[in-house]
Amino acid sequence: MKIAIAGSGALGCGFGYQLQKNGQDVTLLDYWEDHIQAIKDKGLTVSVNGTEGNQQMKVCKPEEADGEMDIIFVFTKAMGLKAMMKSIAHLIGPDTKIVCLLNGLGHHETLQAFVDKRNIIMGTTVWTAGIEAPGVTRLNGQGPVELQNSHPEEKQAALDIVDMLKESGLYGVYSENVTYTTWRKACVNGTMNALCALLDTTIDKVFASSTIESMLRGIVSEFAAVAELQDGIAIDVDEMIIYLNDVAKQVGEHYPSMHQDLANKRPTEIDFLNGAVAEASRKLGLYAPNCQKITDLIHAKEDILGINR
Ligand code: NAD
Repeated sequence: MKIAIAGSGALGCGFGYQLQKNGQDVTLLDYWEDHIQAIKDKGLTVSVNGTEGNQQMKVCKPEEADGEMDIIFVFTKAMGLKAMMKSIAHLIGPDTKIVCLLNGLGHHETLQAFVDKRNIIMGTTVWTAGIEAPGVTRLNGQGPVELQNSHPEEKQAALDIVDMLKESGLYGVYSENVTYTTWRKACVNGTMNALCALLDTTIDKVFASSTIESMLRGIVSEFAAVAELQDGIAIDVDEMIIYLNDVAKQVGEHYPSMHQDLANKRPTEIDFLNGAVAEASRKLGLYAPNCQKITDLIHAKEDILGINR
């Protein structure tokens, strides 16, 4: 399979590395020059659950790549998706599948402006990844990668990608309702990520605070209201709060990615999480004061830190 990784940062490098190791024809695409040069000079080094390996890999800027791809995994941050889709238009043929595992809400609509629904495969992943240095990344966890075809007639294409991910050690799983999975993941990120970023602490400390129950209930209720009215997805608020507490116990003393984004002076994905819920609420005639306030506070922090959005 001819595969492009559109956005070869932390997660993109981990996926591209594993797919090539399993025999796929992978091209890494990114616009970060030092990273591209380091991979060209020394190959891509990835530590997968602590075991380090290195491979020579094809890598270039999106506009420098050519030829139609069979599959393109998009792996930008949420706010980079639209620009990336514009810059890879020449790599997309009538049958090219676009696989989207980004965190956040609204990506299906963004993708539909660029590709036919038949070619969109949506998903989520709980793999975690990070960049150690240009050309050096890490991939941790055991998956899964849950995904599903957007168009009902394209199930086989999604199943084939699931098999390819399984064979590559990335633990693909076919999801019968990826929209539900996406909302669940958004609830995790919209609570843990946002609260740890605002309170400048780890997940265990936030979840040990005396006001955690009321903060979680406020945020999750607003996510649930939009999920139901907009997508017909039922989120059980009580069950979600129990689930979030369980996840917090498992991950414990850990700074989630939004905290790391602020620490590294990078813009956050808040507009695609709590911000998306606040905006959708307004359109639906609802009111989401918790999500709106969290979005405003995160943007204020970005401004204070001099982060360009
Ligand atoms: P990242 O910032 O490490 O990687 C994104 C890469 O895309 C960067 O290298 C950037 O240079 C590149 N990029 C962005 N726009 C581009 C453009 N127009 N042209 C060329 N290159 C472009 O991000 P990540 O941590 O890999 O996360 C990717 C997505 O996956 C996010 O939505 C994130 O929330 C989600 N996610 C991340 C993790 C994780 O542990 N890192 C886990 C689950 C989900």
